[in-house]
Amino acid sequence: MPESIDPKTIEKPAMRCTECDREKDHYNTFLSPGNEMKVVCWECQSRDEKGFNAKRNFRRGARSGYIPR
Ligand SMILES: [Zn+2]
Repeated sequence: MPESIDPKTIEKPAMRCTECDREKDHYNTFLSPGNEMKVVCWECQSRDEKGFNAKRNFRRGARSGYIPR
């Protein structure tokens, strides 16, 4: 009977995120034009995609009746 090995665990050991400098299991790697590998964890990735500097709590606050001005 073959041993069941989780390929995710093997191919992706925890690495330090280039952005937040924390060790993460879940991350993406990018190759910069300078051929440097960049590690971006899912948190930093989603922060980029959502536009973290936009008012993130705006909607949530407005829904509960509080409208930030
Ligand atoms: Zn990160």
